[in-house]
Amino acid sequence: MTARRRFIAGNWKMNLDRAGALGLISSLRSKLPHDPGFDVAVFPPFPYVEIVVNACAGTPIRVGAQNCYFEAKGAFTGEVSVSMIADLGATSVILGHSERRHVFNETDTAIAKKMTAALGARLAPILCVGETLAERQAGRTSEIVLRQLVEGLAGVAAAQFGSVTIAYEPVWAIGTGVNATPDQAGEVHSLLRNELAARHGRAVADAMRILYGGSVTPENAAALLRVPGVDGALVGGASLDAGKFQAILSAANPAAHA
Ligand code: PEP
Repeated sequence: MTARRRFIAGNWKMNLDRAGALGLISSLRSKLPHDPGFDVAVFPPFPYVEIVVNACAGTPIRVGAQNCYFEAKGAFTGEVSVSMIADLGATSVILGHSERRHVFNETDTAIAKKMTAALGARLAPILCVGETLAERQAGRTSEIVLRQLVEGLAGVAAAQFGSVTIAYEPVWAIGTGVNATPDQAGEVHSLLRNELAARHGRAVADAMRILYGGSVTPENAAALLRVPGVDGALVGGASLDAGKFQAILSAANPAAHA
């Protein structure tokens, strides 16, 4: 089986200001070794992407955007294209976050178009999938996450799978303080990986990183990261606090799991 490098990503959502963003990066960069042995990325709000890219120069911290639009340019007031994001020096983009799906009514079809656009601009996408509490309670978790996975990846060419990361983020766990248990996360990660294997082959499935997201904290990170098939974390609230994010990064240190 391919060894997958762990990946910890911080989604800042619509938080921080210029000074707060720079202060957070300054604290993180002072503690991160040149090669921590895993991947780290932060996703600031659009206005701060460029200053954060500059602040992260020479560090292992990569920078991405929280969303993008699929059209290349034109009369799309308020939208941001993938080439604009790449032009700022960002290298990644989050797609289909539950807040995009549920607050802004993003569909699987729109997310699939964003996926194609992002890959075309050489941005590494993180595709988020996850069920609501009502869907879980109705026994529909597999149906929902597999539909979001399959439809989100519908336009991805075989050669592009290596650039894609999946994040399993149960909606009921995001920002609620109630994380999925390691067993719940492990079960859905296996489901997702088996679907990838069935559709795209075992090599693609074994190489694809699947992160867990939803109320990850310094207290639960190690247990979640120990679950086979959980390759890292997409962290919201705790990524805004340098000390907490640093503690989650420490839990991802491969030496800590040897
Ligand atoms: C997220 O924003 O993707 C997320 C998982 O948030 P939180 O860690 O705050 O639950």
